[in-house]
Amino acid sequence: MISLEQLVRPNIWSLAPYSSARDEYSGKEAHVFLDANENPYNAPYNRYPDPLQRDLKKMLEKVKGVPAENIFLGNGSDEAIDLPYRIFCEPGKDNVVAIEPTYGMYKVCADINNVEYRPVLLDEHYEFKASALLGACDEHTKIIWICSPNNPTGNSLNRDEILKVIEGFEGIVVVDEAYIDFAQQLSLRSELASHPNLIILQTMSKAWSSAAIRLGMAFASKDIIAIYNKVKYPYNVNLLTQQQAMEMLKDPFEIDKYVKLLLTERAQVMQAFAELPICEQVYKTDANFFLVRVTDAQKIYDYLVDKGIIVRNRTRVQLCQNCLRITIGTRTENQELLSALRQY
Ligand SMILES: *Cc1c(COP(=O)(O)O)cnc(C)c1O
Repeated sequence: MISLEQLVRPNIWSLAPYSSARDEYSGKEAHVFLDANENPYNAPYNRYPDPLQRDLKKMLEKVKGVPAENIFLGNGSDEAIDLPYRIFCEPGKDNVVAIEPTYGMYKVCADINNVEYRPVLLDEHYEFKASALLGACDEHTKIIWICSPNNPTGNSLNRDEILKVIEGFEGIVVVDEAYIDFAQQLSLRSELASHPNLIILQTMSKAWSSAAIRLGMAFASKDIIAIYNKVKYPYNVNLLTQQQAMEMLKDPFEIDKYVKLLLTERAQVMQAFAELPICEQVYKTDANFFLVRVTDAQKIYDYLVDKGIIVRNRTRVQLCQNCLRITIGTRTENQELLSALRQY
């Protein structure tokens, strides 16, 4: 990896961040707070929340096995995806490389930030070669985006190839592990200490069943996290979100129950799909959804909409012609989908 100073945009490297009242005084001993122009009434919502979410990070430290100084929390993964563009990529000059197909937000954020986006097509098994991603890079490539398990394909990507990319690239490699809690594969969190150019993204939106609260996580070196913290909005994670996340984290085993249930259900739904006349291929998955190739994705999608059942039509995505992406729901929901398709 080249030095962080060389990777970061000069204006960000030299940025003096906003210093909030909460930053300047964060001790606990005082009892009269007249420093932030807050209203003294309507506790606890009258006070600005902790800009660094220390209590929440303390709980995450235990659950994730990552020190708090290596954790960034944002308004969903969306924020953790957008920030690296603003930190590392000079608009109109730098570029990023990503697998294709993958999660759409990487490209949207590239476009918003006027950063060239270089997609590298996966093979027919939705796998990739490190050499292909590295071959698409030039001296202006700042970030490589990898998503594993990948969306919309569902599969985990080959861990050795991911490590080859991380080790073979001079810039930043972001690995989005939004679905890792459903996967057989282990998280790359254990690789953080030995790979200073690695950023791992996770979220409360999927296995933690809290999409509404908008809490995304980035795990990285403390130097990268410090820059994230410098660039983010001062109070990017609101109090209600911090409280509800801590409520969920109090009992991490509750989540294991959800995951187990969904994985059992996933196996049954995929088996049933394989036997449907409309089904051409069910793709292997490591997530709480699966991709299925059907006889006519558009017609089947429209038919389901008519019945009030919404799936994701991915037919216009590269390598996903005639594919639908199906999220695993409750048993009742899944049965309703299957019986609708049996009558198609
Ligand atoms: C769902 C999903 C996320 C989650 O995004 P949030 O903003 O945290 O809700 C992140 N990455 C991928 C690949 C996803 O599919």
